[in-house]
Parts: sequence; C-alpha cells; structure tokens
Amino acid sequence: MSFPIAYPAVDLFPSQADALIVICANSASLNDELNAIVQPYLNVDARINTKVSLLVHEKVPGKRLILAPTGPLNRDFDDVRRVYDAAKLAFQEAKAAGAVSPALAIMGVDIDARYQHALDVAYLGACQSLWQPLEAREHLGDVIEPINRIILIGADNARCERLNALAAGHYVARDLSGTEPERMAPMRFAQYCKAAFTDSAVEVEVISDRATLDKEYPMLGTVARASYAVERHHPCVIKMTYNPSDEVVRTLMFVGKGLVYDTGGADLKVGGFMAGMSRDKGGAACVAGFMKSVAEYKPKGVKVVAYLAVVRNSIGSDCFVPDEIVHTREGVRVRIGNTDAEGRLAMGDLLSELKDQALNEVNPVLFTVATLTGHAARAMGPYSAYVENGPARAANVSRELVEQGDLWADCAEVSRSRREDFDFVKPRTLADDVLSSNNAPSAVTARGHQFPMAFLSIVGGLDKHGLSSTKPLPYVHMDIAGSGVEGGDWQHGKPMPATISSLFARYC
Ligand SMILES: [Zn+2]
Repeated sequence: MSFPIAYPAVDLFPSQADALIVICANSASLNDELNAIVQPYLNVDARINTKVSLLVHEKVPGKRLILAPTGPLNRDFDDVRRVYDAAKLAFQEAKAAGAVSPALAIMGVDIDARYQHALDVAYLGACQSLWQPLEAREHLGDVIEPINRIILIGADNARCERLNALAAGHYVARDLSGTEPERMAPMRFAQYCKAAFTDSAVEVEVISDRATLDKEYPMLGTVARASYAVERHHPCVIKMTYNPSDEVVRTLMFVGKGLVYDTGGADLKVGGFMAGMSRDKGGAACVAGFMKSVAEYKPKGVKVVAYLAVVRNSIGSDCFVPDEIVHTREGVRVRIGNTDAEGRLAMGDLLSELKDQALNEVNPVLFTVATLTGHAARAMGPYSAYVENGPARAANVSRELVEQGDLWADCAEVSRSRREDFDFVKPRTLADDVLSSNNAPSAVTARGHQFPMAFLSIVGGLDKHGLSSTKPLPYVHMDIAGSGVEGGDWQHGKPMPATISSLFARYC
C-alpha cells in the first residue's frame, strides 16, 4: 500500500518538500513572490502558460518549481477536471525530476463554486497518475511509486484525513480492477479484500461453496458453470458490512459486478473484442474501494452493506448457452438472450437478497455498480450513467450524486428508466418471465444501457417496490463502462475509481 499520503501545510515553501507544484489558470494568477521567480522564464519561453514547466530557483523547496497551467476555466463547459488533468501532468514531471515529497499549491483557480474542491481534486489526480499496476509493483517493487507524500498547502488536518481515506479507497479500486485475470482470479480477489480490511471497521465474509452459491444465487451459478472446470477460476461472493458507532440514519446497499474475466461465454467475444475484459470487475472493484474509504473514515450515522459477485465468464462444454431458462432467487424464470450479457445475471440474485434485507433497514438506498454495457460508453462517453427507479428519482438520489461528482472530477449523467425498457425484456412465451437481453451488442441496441436496469429491477424484485407500492425502495443502477478506465482503453488505460468520490462526498 503506497499511495502518497496527504500532509497539511500553511507555508508556500514547506521545508519538508523537495519540489513545489503550482497549479494555476495561467501565470497571471500567481502571487508576487512566485511571479518574481517566473517572470525571467516568461521572457524567454512562450510556452509557460500552455504546458507543464520545471523552473529552477534557489528559494523554492528542492530548487524545483513546477508550473502547471489549467487553461481557461470560465466557459460553461469547463469543470474541475481541468485541475485534475493539470495535476496528473505536473506530478509525472515531479516524479521524472526525482522528487519524492512535493508540495502542492493552487492559485487563481477558485473563480466560482465549480472549483471549491480544486486542491482536493488535484491531490486525487496526482494519486491517479502516480499509481502503478499491482503486478508491476509485485515484480519491480515499491520503487516504481517513489512519491510517498504530498504536502497540501492550505489544507488542515481534518481535510487531509478525509482525503487520505478517499485516496485509500481509490487505490484499492485501481488495484482490484486493473489486474490481469489470473492475478485477480475470484479467490485471489477475495484474499486481497480480506487483507485490505484486516482489523478495520468493515467485516468481510467470503462464500465459495458451490452448493450454497447455486442455491442462493442460481444466476451467478449459471454464469460460473464453465469456470468450475478450473479450480483457480471458481467463483465467490464477497459480503462486506460497515456499522457506524452511533445510530444508523441511512443505509447504503451495493451490488458490484466482479467479472474477473469475460470471454463472452458461448457468445464468444471475437474479432479482438476480448482484450481488456479483465477490467470487467471494475464495478466490484469500485464498491470495494468505497468500502475501503468508509473503513478508513468511519462515517457517522451511515450503515453500508456491499455484495460482490466475483466470477469468471468462461467458455467450455458446460458453459451456459442462449435459450436456457434459469429459475432465480426471486422466483423469476429468466430466458438467457446472450451469454455475454452475464453481469446482470451475476448481480441479480444478490440484488434480490439485498432488497429483502433493505426492508428491515433504516432509510435504505440500493445500488448496482457495473461495467455493464458498451452502450453506456457510446451514449455517455467517459461519464458514468445512472439509471434510477421512481423512489430514487423522487428522492433526487442520482442528481445529488451527479452534483457532487461535478465538484470532485467524478462526473456522471442521469438516464431515465422508461416503459420501452420493460417492454424490451418482457417474455415472448409462457415458458419464461423475462428475457436477459437481446442478441446484439448493446452498443448497437436502442436504450442499450437503460433496459438492463429494467431486467435488474425485475430479477431483484425491485419492480414491486416502486413509488406506488407500500414499501418504496430507492434503487440506482450505475453503469461505469464508459468511466471505468482512462481514455476508454480497456486493456492498457489506468482503471478509474468511478463513483467513489461522489458517494463519499454525498454520504460520508
Ligand atoms: Zn459480457
């Protein structure tokens, strides 16, 4: 575990630092002291306001001043990711220059409320850019993550404590999502989680007995069928619980999709579309990451429960195939439409179980978090897509998360759940109750990321807990297929801790 710890500082030139990174709109927003240092460079280098520059000066810690301009911030479409992106570049420069303990200051960025968390976001951007894959660290050692602390100028202790909890969660999410399929096979995923939560405020339970899994989670058992041919590929369900030390006023309940590898199954991913499918566990990774932030921060008044479906969608003689009918925990008969639509199957029975539990919890909100559909990435680009039911919509659950996400560089867009989505999965014969999917890629299917939420509602039993029911239950399906990896590069892009900052800012 070696993310750079956030330390507070007041002085612009902290003595413990070995570099000073200043993120600014442009050099005109620097204070007089820095302006005097930068002016001679401005006279000879016209690029100072358009790219990251390392300037040498005796007065600055480590003699290194790294200037990172954000560019314009005041247009309607600008947001705090300008700061996040500038920080990523600046910390790469600091690392390359040999700094291990840089200080970070922000100047002239707070032009309006959009940038109220600019310093925090810059720190999180730094952590994102400095993270190296788990396999790389295991092979090459922690030396590949040399920056071990970041001194935040203007932050106090409480702010750093919060940031360190958040950064710890981001780190866990990247580790779990970014690993190759054998290093993070299901039971190794579980081992990582157990180690990450040892002696913490979060309890971890792992269910791996096949008879139990098949009985409690028949859809997950169906997806896992071909994986039983290889012992190290066997599935598990990971359950995590956080109970606050005081009275519970709200309960957050998550299901995370943890497909450690998705070959597509019998509907095999061909033509090069399989590469990168080790990141199909990003939803479970982000839920585990959020739990890590919760474990570190120990928020008051909020109980958090997380169920992770950790399974491999393999192909083999016992693999499930389209047309099969599966009887679910909820008593729904599911007709398999396409075996590559396995995430909703892996999560569905866990959602049903959580729904039953939710009926006895205080003020529950349910979430599914998943890299579910290519359609989400096509429709939203690099943003998470939130599809919510009536009670969640009435309570503004998604909109409040989106507002926080805009302030924390964790952006998302809200989609509506519509009647067409339920029509799309309705049964065609009396032999089944619901269809898991059509037989075309989601990316070329109208409402390809919205209709799976209708399916999840039905197999999770949440369709019986709408606004007009006696027990309405708010439920938001979060599709992070577009936001789960940097640059949409599923094989090589760094995994992103999607939804964690928004959830943390809103509820912790
Ligand atoms: Zn799939």
